[in-house]
Amino acid sequence: MAKEEEVEIVRIVTDEEKTFAKNFNINDLPDIPTGLPPHLELQRTRVVCKNDAPIHTSSVVYSGAYNAVGVDNSVKLENFSENFKVNVISSSEDGMDMEFDMIGINAAIANAFRRILLAELPSMAIEKVFVANNTSLVQDEVLAQRLGLVPIAADPRLFDYISESDQPNEKNTIVFKLHARCERGEPRLKVLTEELIWLPNGSEMVKESGESTSSKPKTFTSFSRSQDSFPEFAENPISPSNLDILIAKLGPGQEIELEAHAVKGIGKTHAKWSPVGTAWYRMLPEVILLKEFEGKEAENLVKACPVKVFDIEDMGKGRKRATVAQPRKCTLCRECLREEFGVPIVKPKVKPVKDEGKDKETQIERKEWIDNVALHRVKNHFIFKIESTGSLPPEVLFTEAVKILEDKCERVIADLS
Ligand code: SF4
Repeated sequence: MAKEEEVEIVRIVTDEEKTFAKNFNINDLPDIPTGLPPHLELQRTRVVCKNDAPIHTSSVVYSGAYNAVGVDNSVKLENFSENFKVNVISSSEDGMDMEFDMIGINAAIANAFRRILLAELPSMAIEKVFVANNTSLVQDEVLAQRLGLVPIAADPRLFDYISESDQPNEKNTIVFKLHARCERGEPRLKVLTEELIWLPNGSEMVKESGESTSSKPKTFTSFSRSQDSFPEFAENPISPSNLDILIAKLGPGQEIELEAHAVKGIGKTHAKWSPVGTAWYRMLPEVILLKEFEGKEAENLVKACPVKVFDIEDMGKGRKRATVAQPRKCTLCRECLREEFGVPIVKPKVKPVKDEGKDKETQIERKEWIDNVALHRVKNHFIFKIESTGSLPPEVLFTEAVKILEDKCERVIADLS
């Protein structure tokens, strides 16, 4: 038999193929999925609230966390400025409370704003109280403590901080006087914050040991000009933010006479200087029904939610189904994920006595709700609430907090460079 001839096959690679190989990227192929698979996307963007505890609560901040699936997780300034939004949702009638949404930031930044608002924004508060007479039942120290906590409606940006060595003057001190007396035979007298009278020319209390060189007696402040000559205060006289806060109650014959000096400070030093009653945030709730809840079951679901997140939609022809009407109201009480009525989520050591009279059918259907009601929190969407004590409106407080955070960032950059 003739030996087979060996044929050498030479593959010639064209220039076109070389260029293709050079520029080839598997992610460019149309059938390759881009972005994260849904389960990872859910973990990255949502806190998932199960009936026993929330899961995926941490933020994924490592830039290379999703390199394996070709997704860049690094923080980019252009993405941030494109996605960041602030939407004002509501404001109270007096303008002192505001609720707004901050979208496109993570919990660390939202918390930084909260902490700055509570502890680092300045306000004016009473720091020194000179008691001339106090025959009330409230001791001097307690009275001074109560006065310290009275919020003062004065823009702190117009004042300087005062140090131990500084003389109290018109740029660093606000002086109030209070003189209340309950005459004999009169009913008990409530001393309210409206009794605190602003003294724009400074202290009127003469220093006992003061030796005045001029004809003017020496007082506890040295104002060179009256505070009401400042245009900012001419039309808005300084006063406590709320005029109906109770300071003390006087019985017949009792009297309080004092002078209170307010200075600028921050909440980190003492809570009385915090310009907010509170500042808090929560992630936006997301409630999803994974199946159609119809008829009696829909009604039971609506009844189960204490804050009325669900509602009934009339589909016509007698059909009714449950809808998620107000997801924002969800408080994450997880009542809709309880297996049975009256059985707590964290099971007590002692087994609860079941009420045999309960609707068995409803209890069975509630077991199914655990798999069919999805409760999430959106990780980059914060519902933020600021309650101002009255020194500045909440929108101004927030912009001041942004400035403080900006200053901090600049300091860090300067230290690193
Ligand atoms: S968790 Fe509570 S508030 Fe939220 S939807 Fe369920 S029952 Fe309503």
